Amino acid sequence: MKILVLNAGSSSQKSCVYEITGDIPEEPLKPLWEAKVDWTHQQGFAEIEVKTAKGELQEKIPADSRDQVMARMLDTLCNGSTQVITQPSEIDVVGHRVVHGGQDYRESVVITEDVKKAIAHLATLAPAHNPANLEGIKAIEQHWGSVPQIAVFDTAFHSHLPDAAAIYPGPYEWVEQGIRRYGFHGISHQYCAARAARILGRELASVRLITCHLGNGCSLAAIKNGRSVDTTMGFTPLDGLMMGTRSGAVDPGILIHLLRQSDNSVEHLDHVLNRASGLRGISGISNDMRQIREAISQGNSRAQLAWDIYVHHLRSYIGAMLASLGGLDALVFTAGVGENTPDIRAAACEAFAFLGLKLDDEKNAHKPVDIDIATADSAVRVLVIHTEEDWEIACECWRLVRRSC
Ligand code: ADP
Repeated sequence: MKILVLNAGSSSQKSCVYEITGDIPEEPLKPLWEAKVDWTHQQGFAEIEVKTAKGELQEKIPADSRDQVMARMLDTLCNGSTQVITQPSEIDVVGHRVVHGGQDYRESVVITEDVKKAIAHLATLAPAHNPANLEGIKAIEQHWGSVPQIAVFDTAFHSHLPDAAAIYPGPYEWVEQGIRRYGFHGISHQYCAARAARILGRELASVRLITCHLGNGCSLAAIKNGRSVDTTMGFTPLDGLMMGTRSGAVDPGILIHLLRQSDNSVEHLDHVLNRASGLRGISGISNDMRQIREAISQGNSRAQLAWDIYVHHLRSYIGAMLASLGGLDALVFTAGVGENTPDIRAAACEAFAFLGLKLDDEKNAHKPVDIDIATADSAVRVLVIHTEEDWEIACECWRLVRRSC
C-alpha cells in the first residue's frame, strides 16, 4: 500500500510517501519520497525541498496560494529526478494530520463532506492549523480526484481523558460550550507510547508511561492502558509547559490585569502569549534551546533564568502526571529538545531520584535514540524515542484501510 502523508502547519508543509507491503513492520520504514515546503522566508515565494533515494531537488517558486505550491510539490512525485510513481492513481490513500477533531472525532476517519465541514467548523479552535489542513485536503481533491483521504487527528489520542482531567473548573456552561481540555501532539504521544512498550518488551496495555514531547511546542501525556489519562496542553496548545515562544499556563488573573490596561488588545495578548513568551520571552535571545545553552555557557543570566523556569515547570508537570497515573514504569523523552538535550533530561530526572529513578549518565550523554537510558537498578525506566509522527499517520491509514476492506 502506498500512502502519501501530508502534515501541514501554518507556515510549512511536510509530506512523505511510504510503501507498506504486508503487515506494519516493527521498525518504522524510511519514506520513498520526502518533501518540505516553507512559506516563511520571502513573501510571495515558497521554498520546496524534495528528497528521494534517487535524487534531490530544491527550488524557490512564486506562490500566491497554497494550492499552487501543492500542485508543484505533487508534480515532483510523478516527474523529474525525484519521481517515485508514474501516476497519482498509484497512491492508495492520502493521510492528513488534522490538528483539531473536537469532541466528535475520537479516531481517524475517511474524509467525507461532513468531515470537511467539521474541520472547517473547528478552525475557530485551531485557527493556525485546521484551515491549512483543509486546504491540503481540497488540493488533493482538485489535482488527484477521488483518491481516498483519511484525517488523523492530533486531539484523538486524548479524547478519552476522564472528565475530572478534561473539564476546567469554570462555570458549567463551559462544558456545554465545548470549552474543555482537548490536548495536542496526540499522534506523537501515541507513537511514542507504542514504541516505548516495544522497547520495554511489554504489552502497551500493562505499562504506565509519561511521554514528554519537548519541541518548539511542549506537552506531556500520562498514559495508562495505552490511553492518555492526563495531558498538559488544554483547550488550546498554549496550556501547560513553558515552550519555545509560548508561555504555557500562567495565572489567568494576569490576563484580566493586562486587559484592564487600555493599551492591551486581545490581539496583542495573543501575540505576547503565543510568540513573545517562553524561552524567547524570558531570555530575550531565542526560542531555540541550543542558543539558550550557548548563552548560558557565556554567563548570560536571562538565559539561565529561562532554563531554570523551563526545568521547574517540566518537573512540576511530570509530578502532576505521576499523580494521575498513580505510579510510573517509564519516562519517555521525545522531539527536538527531548531527543537532543541530555542536561534537560538529567535535570528532569534528578527531581525523581526519590522514586528510585536513576539515569545512566553515559547513556544519557551519547546521543541515545530509541533506547533505555536508566541504570539497570533504576526503579523507573527512562527512554529517549525519536518521534515519527508521519509514520504513525501512515500506520493509522493502513489500519483504517485494512479494517474497511
Ligand atoms: P516542532 O515542535 O516545531 O516540531 P522540533 O521537535 O523539531 O519542533 O523541536 C525544535 C526545537 O528543538 C528547536 O527549537 C530547539 O530548541 C530544539 N532542538 C533541535 N535540535 C536540537 C539539538 N541538537 N540540541 C538542542 N536542542 C535542539
